[in-house]
Amino acid sequence: MRGRRKSAGREPAATGSGSSGRTPLISGNWKMNHNHFEAIQTIQKLAYALNRDDYRHTDVSVHPPFTDLRSVQTVLQADDIPIALGAQDCHTADSGAFTGEVSAAMLAKLDVTYVIVGHSERRALFGESDELVNAKARAVLRHGMVPIVCVGETVDQRRAGQAHDVVAGQLAGSLDGLDAAVVGTLVVAYEPVWAIGTGETATPADAQDMCAHVRSQAADRWGSDAASALRIQYGGSVKPSNAPDLMEQPDIDGALVGGASLAAADFSRIVNYRLYAA
Ligand code: PEP
Repeated sequence: MRGRRKSAGREPAATGSGSSGRTPLISGNWKMNHNHFEAIQTIQKLAYALNRDDYRHTDVSVHPPFTDLRSVQTVLQADDIPIALGAQDCHTADSGAFTGEVSAAMLAKLDVTYVIVGHSERRALFGESDELVNAKARAVLRHGMVPIVCVGETVDQRRAGQAHDVVAGQLAGSLDGLDAAVVGTLVVAYEPVWAIGTGETATPADAQDMCAHVRSQAADRWGSDAASALRIQYGGSVKPSNAPDLMEQPDIDGALVGGASLAAADFSRIVNYRLYAA
């Protein structure tokens, strides 16, 4: 574990994206974990672990399973907790005969702010294409929410020297046809597939390199204003110990956190990465 939390009252240093004008977003993707009782406990513990100052420089979202959303929404609203509610996926249509699916319209009714689309688990296990991810991102935007659009290469693609092209292709396909003004409001999560749930993290330099590549691709397609407003998260085995070094990188504007978001103690330390920086 890196350094200790610095004393309360000390102004945190502006690191990484802090000097870019982009507010970092730390998001917890709970995946298919926590029933609604466990979800209530986790969100209450997280709210207890964070104090009001902790949200001054950083946006925070949690993405529970669909069955927990109403319970977590109720706790967040009842206690006026400044954590945004997020979802992990949605369908492209607003309603209809799609057994088992949940629409963006339904999520918006639950005061969901962010919806993850195109997570690598959905791309790999459920065959989601860039076209489908694009349609999901559009559905999220249609209902006034913000998509967190995931991109990232597999280990084979990285070894073959294709990582940059793969990520550029996913970005272009997933955001195809969106206006520059819209692209500037989005969140893109760069998540190398080989780092998700494996304990293996990209080095801060490699993560920065790919996040800078995403920003430069966005600048080429949608212009420099959109690219410099776009928030780019890194995801892949982010932990309290590696978050400060990752977040120091100029093109990394946050983290999409899986495993380490399930425990309030770990996730709150990641949210407070500035306080643990060297
Ligand atoms: C994720 O689910 O998006 C993720 C990055 O998981 P983990 O942090 O467990 O690697």
